[in-house]
Order: sequence, then structure tokens, then C-alpha cells
Amino acid sequence: MGRPVPISTAPRQEQTAGFPSVPALEAASLALVINLVRSGRAATRPELVTVTGLSRKAVTQRVDQALALGLLEDGELAPSSGGRQARTLRFRAEAGHLYSAFVGASEFTAAVMDLTGTVVASHHEDWATDTGPEPTMRQIRSAFTTLARKTGLGRPWAIGIGMPGPVEFATGHLVAPPIMPGWDGFSVRSWLREHYDAPVWVDNDVNLMALGEWTAGVPHDGRDMLFVKVGTGIGAALVTRGRLLRGDRGAAGDIGHTHVTDDPSAVCRCGLTGCLEAVASGWSILEEGTRRVEESARLTASLRRTGRLTLGAIGAAAVDGDRLALEMIDKRSRLVAEVIANLVNFCNPGVLVLGGGILRTGSRFVDVVSSTVHARCNRLVTSGLTVRAASLDHFEGVIGGGLLASSALFATTPLSHWVESGSPLGHATTLQRLSEESA
Ligand SMILES: [Zn+2]
Repeated sequence: MGRPVPISTAPRQEQTAGFPSVPALEAASLALVINLVRSGRAATRPELVTVTGLSRKAVTQRVDQALALGLLEDGELAPSSGGRQARTLRFRAEAGHLYSAFVGASEFTAAVMDLTGTVVASHHEDWATDTGPEPTMRQIRSAFTTLARKTGLGRPWAIGIGMPGPVEFATGHLVAPPIMPGWDGFSVRSWLREHYDAPVWVDNDVNLMALGEWTAGVPHDGRDMLFVKVGTGIGAALVTRGRLLRGDRGAAGDIGHTHVTDDPSAVCRCGLTGCLEAVASGWSILEEGTRRVEESARLTASLRRTGRLTLGAIGAAAVDGDRLALEMIDKRSRLVAEVIANLVNFCNPGVLVLGGGILRTGSRFVDVVSSTVHARCNRLVTSGLTVRAASLDHFEGVIGGGLLASSALFATTPLSHWVESGSPLGHATTLQRLSEESA
């Protein structure tokens, strides 16, 4: 059996008024049976009878239907519990595929994945999103085309995409993204919907990193997770009881613009002063590093070689013990750690995961955060707390994009709509509308 897949990360479902018709009930129970096997909550027909409360006959009918549609298949015999051995059922993750893209300020990753979010093939590219929405989206589309050619997996069932700025989740619009000039009000979803006959879900980058890490991270933990990303920007996301906390419009966790200093020279890209990002983000370190570059022979050489300093170069210098690089990173680590300690006190997560470009500077950041949190937070908060680095080698965001798309496709209402066709292909417009109504 594959790893467990959360089935509750999609937007909440609308209540259906009145009594559903018999075919609607049949589609809903078929959807339920498929989802129970998909999420690992039931693996055999007898278990499905127990979990659903449906009759044995009804379960047999639904399972036969799911087998015929190619969404489930028979697996091994389950270990005997005294009586006749039941055959296990398996969700066919390869029945369809998803496209996912994870966009950063200066790079993006695109991937083709199966229906459980396992990456089949991926493509990574350095790309500055400040070139604007149209060229960026065209570049992502061309990456999808290359991947489709490579894998033979052309028409996706759905697309998930993460952007490094505030995304209004219901509409897929970016709203005043500080590190993406020219993107304000741009609808990533509308652009992709014009080019693909597939439903599209767009989310903030840190939300998808948290979703990917919570589902596929190692070690798998099922407890509430606070994820903090420190890269070009700074953001946080909270997964609680398997659900992402998005807030009212999708902006929950946007901690980069928390006020942390009254220093008037700490001017932030968002237009305010004193924000955490202004004093602790990747772009603030590039600014300081460029200004003080002559203090480090190593960074001076790097600047001469490539014409500009990069976060990668500063991170590598820190790993090798460069004094300026370490000083700049340590100062920022302490500032971010103080803010994280407040968040940990507020939401009492079981796991605190740290991710983003900061991990390329070695393990110091994780150590500073861990000791600050333990010093600042109540013992009840810290006694069971695990603090660790993200575990998926910077793939958690793109994996999260696939998981977002699959959880939206397999949420009960949309799944009931397409399940009897065996695939959501051809249903994109309705699925997108159902999703918008329930967001
Ligand atoms: Zn700001």
C-alpha cells in the first residue's frame, strides 16, 4: 500500500439541499469506497462494510464498479484473522496523472506525477519571476510540454501550482505580491485554464511545502505541523488535523511582513518599514552582502566571477566557514527564531519543519531555531516538539502541488460528479465551478 493520502485538504463541501436521488447516492457511495481505499483507511471489502455501514452487497457492487472503471484493483490476500482471507484492494495511482509547478522568486520546478503525488518526471530551471506573468507562464507551459514528451503523459487530470506570494485561494489570483512586481491581480488559474482542459488549483508556496512535507515527509508524523520557509521571502503554514489552515481568504501564515523593528532604514519590498523580511530574508542578505562584499575575499571573488552575488554563493561560503557569510546568516537566524518561537507558543505544533534556501547554509539555522524555541516556550509546548529540516530535498512544494490537485479532484462532491466516467477528463469546467463554489 502507498503512503497515506489526506482526503480532507480540499475546500469544504457544500451541503446539498433536499434528498439526493438514487443515482447521486450511488455515485457518492462509490466515491466514498474509492476514497477509503485511496487514503488507506480500508483495504478489504469486509473493512469497507465495517467503515461505511453499507451492506455487503452494496460494497461488492461499488467495488466491482471501481474495478471496472480502473480506479481500484485487486491486490494480495490480507493476513488471515481466523476466517477466510480477504483480498486487499489497491488504489490505481497510475490511472491518471497530474501536472504540478512550484514557482520561486528565481527558479521553478515542474513535475508530472501520479494520482498520489509521486513524481514521475521533473524539470528544474533558474527563472526570474520579475520578468512578469506572461513570459513566466509560457516558460512553465514549455516545461510541461517537455515533460509530456519525455513521459508520454500528455493530458493531465488536474494541475496544482504554488506561487511565492499571497494567493486568494478561491480565485487563484495573486494579490499584491511584494517580491513579484507586475503580478498583482494576475490569475494563474485563468491563464492555465485557457491552455489546458483541466481544472487548476493555485496556492501560496509555503502552503504547498507544508502539505507536501506533512504527507510525504520523513519521518512521517501525523501530528500538527508548523512549516516555516526562509528563502528569498519568509512565510509559514500550519497543517492541523491533516488540513491546511488558509484563513478567510488564503493569506494565513504570511509572517514575512510582521513588524519586528522600529529601525526606519529597514525598508521592506512591500512598502512598509520594519518587516521581518526587511531584516531577515534572502533578499536582505543579498543586499547586505553586496554592500559589505569587500569584507570577504571569498564573496568578492564570487561577485567578480559571476557579476552578482547569489544566495547559493553566500550559503556555500557559510558552509566553508566564511566569517562575513556566517555573521549575516547567524544574525538573521536569531531574528527569525524569535518570531518562530512566538508562533510555536501560539499553535503548539507536534512538528516544526524548517525549509527553503536557508537549508543550503548547513545545519546552523535549525540548531538556532531549536534552541531558541526551547528557551522561549512553555515546557508543555516543547516537551513533545520535534524540530527538523524539510526532508524532501526541496521537492516538498512541487509534491504539495500535486497533492492539492489530487485532493481537490477526489473530494466527495467533485469525485461524485466524475467518478462514473472513470476519469475527470472533459469535466474541467464543472469541477472548477464546484471548487469555486465551495472555497
Ligand atoms: Zn514587508
